[in-house]
Amino acid sequence: VDICADSKLIPFEEALTYILTNIEPLQQKETIDLAQSLDRILAETVFAPIAVPNYDNSAMDGYAVRMQDCSGMLRVIGSALAGHTFNGVLASGEAVLITTGAVIPQGADTVVMKENVVTVNDNSNAESHFIQINHLPKLGEHIRRAGEDIAKGSQILPVGKRLSALDIGLMASLGIDCVNVIRQPRIALLTTGDELLLPGMTFESGKIYDSNRPMLNALLNRMAIEIRDFGIVSDDPEKLFIVFNDAMTWADAVISTGGVSVGEADFTKTIFTKLGKIEFWKIAMKPGKPFAFGRLIKNNSDNKNVKNCWFFGLPGNPVSSAVTYHQLVVPGLRRLSGEALDENKFTHTIIHARTQVALKKQPGRIDFQRGILHFDQGNATVTSAGLQSSGVLSAMAKANCYIKLDKEQGNVAEGEMVKVILFDGFIQ
Ligand code: AMP
Ligand code: MG
Repeated sequence: VDICADSKLIPFEEALTYILTNIEPLQQKETIDLAQSLDRILAETVFAPIAVPNYDNSAMDGYAVRMQDCSGMLRVIGSALAGHTFNGVLASGEAVLITTGAVIPQGADTVVMKENVVTVNDNSNAESHFIQINHLPKLGEHIRRAGEDIAKGSQILPVGKRLSALDIGLMASLGIDCVNVIRQPRIALLTTGDELLLPGMTFESGKIYDSNRPMLNALLNRMAIEIRDFGIVSDDPEKLFIVFNDAMTWADAVISTGGVSVGEADFTKTIFTKLGKIEFWKIAMKPGKPFAFGRLIKNNSDNKNVKNCWFFGLPGNPVSSAVTYHQLVVPGLRRLSGEALDENKFTHTIIHARTQVALKKQPGRIDFQRGILHFDQGNATVTSAGLQSSGVLSAMAKANCYIKLDKEQGNVAEGEMVKVILFDGFIQ
């Protein structure tokens, strides 16, 4: 079905589902250093090559003892330090000084913390001393058992996991120093518009600084992807053709801003009659209505090796491009990256908050208003971040959440409950 045949607006959820179900995850794998693996996507399940902890060890600084001896005076026969195992065997009436993480000496079954012990010097031997335990421990107390954290051979991380710093720590704890991941997606970025000036250039009336490209570049850098910046392209079909043709040769996806509304200079229609296919265009959302999704299809000369490259055409207005990037492009790129997303769905945590201000809303489009959420004596409260026009980036920069108003919702009165989605690491 040609869902972009007419000017009908596609419901937001339909657009998102379309993107998530059509983009195939990348398959190529590569092995990289653990230290480089933050935010990369696991290509293989990780199993524990060893148990963690690997041996019974002390959870406290204190003394390793035999429970049955604890009421009497114990002779301290040596020490077990982290990294320095005590090699003897504890006999009746003996104790070993132990530090956190040290191996429990043979013969010991319990650790008493040093706070519960009184030291008594041995006057006949300056080298040794005795301890008296003034608070009887429980059998096995303060011992971290081998394998209690991770059993050897158990599954640690599943295929498709986006690796967090904690995952990296977890793998390091197992001695793993390299990981198999999916190769990074290659993303081409460009902005279009004859009015665009590079920041740093002298301002000219009638022009506007290109804010979208630096912003999107920074946002894309939040993800483990390879970015190539194709710069500003003027509203000139021939130049656009050359840049798109170049970008799609390299990229798995091209992200552009501008030129997707209905203005005279809009390039999308012209370009895509030659270079690919628009899958849908115009979404029932605010901001972000003139969003286009499609594919760029490269026919090699032999016509056999057809390369597919996705196209995300973001609206030119900075707030629209930020919101559509976050709500539609990020899920698409995560899918492309090979990340396992729950049942093909992409869900955000919704917080129910009371709005402190009335919110203007016309039925017909889902609205992602920019808000500021705070907790007032434990109650979620939200206020507008300022002007809601799609050109007003200053209000979005102040915001920490979206106020998500459903498609058919009308105006919201002050004091009503609304749905709020907190900004996550992909947008902040
Ligand atoms: P367009 O989608 O090309 O019609 O652009 C819509 C509005 O967004 C116009 O006011 C443009 O000047 C503005 N705009 C387009 N591209 C950018 C950009 N890269 N940075 C800031 N504003 C932009
Ligand atoms: Mg334009």
